[in-house]
Amino acid sequence: MPSYPDWLAEVRSNPYAEQLVRGFRRLRFSPVMEGEYRAHLQRESLELRRVALVFALCAWLSFIGADVWMIQGPLLLALLAIRLGVALLLLGCARYIFRHARLSTPLSMLCIGAMGLGTSVIIALGRQQNDFFPYEGLLLVCIAGYFLVGLRLAEATGVSLLVLLGYALIEWLGGLAPERLFNNLLFLVSGNLIGAFGCYLLEHKSREQFLIGRLMGLLAHQDSLTGLHNRRSFDRELPRLWRQAQREGRGLALLLCDIDHFKAYNDRYGHQAGDQALQRVGEVLRQGARRPLDMAVRLGGEEFAVLLYDIGAAEARQHAEALCRALREAGIEHAGSTTAPVLTMSIGIACQQPQAEQDPLALCAHADRALYEAKAFGRNQVVT
Ligand code: GH3
Ligand code: MG
Ligand code: MG
Repeated sequence: MPSYPDWLAEVRSNPYAEQLVRGFRRLRFSPVMEGEYRAHLQRESLELRRVALVFALCAWLSFIGADVWMIQGPLLLALLAIRLGVALLLLGCARYIFRHARLSTPLSMLCIGAMGLGTSVIIALGRQQNDFFPYEGLLLVCIAGYFLVGLRLAEATGVSLLVLLGYALIEWLGGLAPERLFNNLLFLVSGNLIGAFGCYLLEHKSREQFLIGRLMGLLAHQDSLTGLHNRRSFDRELPRLWRQAQREGRGLALLLCDIDHFKAYNDRYGHQAGDQALQRVGEVLRQGARRPLDMAVRLGGEEFAVLLYDIGAAEARQHAEALCRALREAGIEHAGSTTAPVLTMSIGIACQQPQAEQDPLALCAHADRALYEAKAFGRNQVVT
């Protein structure tokens, strides 16, 4: 199993990092993440499945050549009828997969199963006339199930097992000598074991890539010190929330927060203590942005923002005052401050119901001016 890089231990706790560290040898995540992975796999495999089905259809029909070469008379017609029946099923499934993406997994399994059982019947019938009629085509069908259609290991082995059982039953009923049946099954089972092992490795890799991809996505939008959203995330979300508020006729409030005398704090207590103080401020702001569409952001340095959705000016002001109070009550000693004996912050608020012709950046400019005034009026206060 892979050993993960040291940086994983430094990543703030999040479900993707935890799952990576915990491992997934049994190819299973925690229930919620498992659902997310399967939905992701389904989306990712869709194109592959469409191409694979067309490929399978062509390969399936190309074996008509071998049938005509080896079999004659009415039996040939029976084989061709089976080939045509399965080909029509594949065609129908391909059409359905193009229209109903969410059915692509069961339909892919159905196609593999139908090709497997169809091949088994063709083999058993073909051997009635020509003792050299090959059985190895069955292995190709199983291998396609493991590698070609993006099935999970459990799905691929399930359908292959069914095909092998069907084959054994059909050959047994067709009167194949037990030692030949045993021999054939030995090769087929060995081929399936190799396929299953390869499929396991592929699925493990695919799951790992899924977790790392999601983790990277999260980290790219997270501030590493406080775990809050970072500026990139804010720049991406603000226009989106602005448009949503505009559509729904809701108010949006931006609280720009700046710690007072933070340079003096660093000078007095050291940079490391400064970082810890920033983390505690982050915690206070996170508690103040807990509704689903609110967000707490570290814009950079000791500047933060809280974006509140569906809120009026008076309520936003109360909220900002509560945040200032919460930071004071956290009681982080700041002997170098000329404002208070503890760490405080100033907040500038801009509140607006977004209109079509306005720019969300205007909200930032208004909040910035309000913050400037809060500093100018003596800090440790809120200005709207
Ligand atoms: P004001 O009350 O006017 O806001 O004064 P201030 O000292 O807080 O503002 P100023 O912008 O002069 O100083 C900000 C300080 O924040 C400077 C820098 O040392 C500190 N700082 C910025 N980023 C970090 C960080 O990541 N960690 C630590 N420990 N300090 C930081
Ligand atoms: Mg500042
Ligand atoms: Mg400051």
